[in-house]
Amino acid sequence: MSETTIFEKIIAREIPANIIYEDDLCICFKDIAPTAPIHLLLVPKKRIVRIGEASPDDQVTLGHLMLMAQEIARREGFHENGFRIVINNGPDGGEAVPHLHLHLLAGKKLSWPHC
Ligand code: 5GP
Repeated sequence: MSETTIFEKIIAREIPANIIYEDDLCICFKDIAPTAPIHLLLVPKKRIVRIGEASPDDQVTLGHLMLMAQEIARREGFHENGFRIVINNGPDGGEAVPHLHLHLLAGKKLSWPHC
């Protein structure tokens, strides 16, 4: 596994972020360069490098992330209008940070397909 990522530094409070939710398994903060009116990152505290490298041991964490995406959408007021969850995986997937994260995108009618 490569060196410490920016997300581990945010989790450790070594660098600042606009954190909107945190529990034992995950943290959610605003993306520094939003691509939608609402653009949050939901990150497991355990460093799973990417979804393509997750293991059966990560099942609880992965399920928790999906349910917390729903819960955060409710808390932040974009559940009703709808939202998109994106996971970029590897070079062709557009992954920049090798620490699994869900992009939560909302706040406008998002275009599709995305390619
Ligand atoms: P990826 O391309 O890996 O799926 O997404 C990485 C995301 O992390 C990008 O949307 C980028 O804007 C965001 N990001 C990178 N560095 C920082 C940072 O220091 N703080 C925050 N809040 N977001 C970051």
